[in-house]
Amino acid sequence: MATITFIGLGNMGGPMASNLLKAGHDVTVFDLSKDAVAALVSEGAKTADTAHNAVKGAECVISMLPAGQHVEAVYLGDDGLLAHLPEGTLVVDSSTIASETSRSVAEQAKAKNIPFIDAPVSGGVGGAKAGALTFICGGDEETFNKAKPILEAMGKNIFLAGESGAGQIAKICNNMLLAVLMAGTSEALALGVKNGLDPAVLSEIMKQSSGGNWALNGYNPWPGVMEGVPASREYEGGFLVNLMNKDLGLAFDNAVKNHASIPMGSLARNLYELHAGQGNGALDFSSIQRLYTPE
Ligand code: NAD
Repeated sequence: MATITFIGLGNMGGPMASNLLKAGHDVTVFDLSKDAVAALVSEGAKTADTAHNAVKGAECVISMLPAGQHVEAVYLGDDGLLAHLPEGTLVVDSSTIASETSRSVAEQAKAKNIPFIDAPVSGGVGGAKAGALTFICGGDEETFNKAKPILEAMGKNIFLAGESGAGQIAKICNNMLLAVLMAGTSEALALGVKNGLDPAVLSEIMKQSSGGNWALNGYNPWPGVMEGVPASREYEGGFLVNLMNKDLGLAFDNAVKNHASIPMGSLARNLYELHAGQGNGALDFSSIQRLYTPE
């Protein structure tokens, strides 16, 4: 079992740290939110007053932060953790951020002999709670192999996508496809219902036909068709529209830099921006259904 410090105990990080505790690891947690820290301490985690104190003695540091600027603030600069961590401390950043930012942090870590991998996740809050996340890693094989047994306490599928930053690229490709699938599924359901079809019957038909996809199988966007999904609780919880927009923005910026054409991703991004602009940013991303069926 390892001595691990977990930084960023939000919707995802909280349950991930909890699963590390359940697996028997010695876990110290840190977050700017005292409530988030208290929840993990009540499950047996240790804590400290600052991030620097929290990582003292850690063999491995894992972070799960909202965006690139938070990751840079935690790791870089004179005050950042990289300036103080002992050589050889394994660092895993699971935040979804730009691949350039991941690469830059990885390079600065390498210069200090600190092995670093980017390890963004897929699977949402449900996957985090169930310890069933997919980790999509970028970095060298030796670091990946060191991190894998730790990640296995939080996930079921652990992939090495390639060099540093590759995890972030694979993650935004996946989320761009997910946005396209969710918008397309919502559109098809809205068309069927406009023609008098029952959304549950239509969903079942499409699930068993060539339009079958992840949204239909386990995350139906039409309210009441599937139990236990955000659509059946007014789109509360889950993966926020604002976070999907962040990921679509990362995909778009990357495509522009690399002269890659992403017409479907760009359209999905516009739809999600429009939806967020109508006050839906804090709802689950399957609420894009409401853009097609405002009534
Ligand atoms: P969140 O906003 O719920 O949690 C982020 C946590 O980081 C908060 O508790 C915040 O207080 C803490 N934090 C921010 N700055 C900090 C700092 N300097 N030091 C310590 N703690 C700090 O976000 P989330 O939903 O848990 O998502 C985290 C990351 O995972 C994001 O990059 C997101 O895109 C990605 N992600 C989220 C989901 C999802 O379904 N929510 C799914 C896959 C990936």
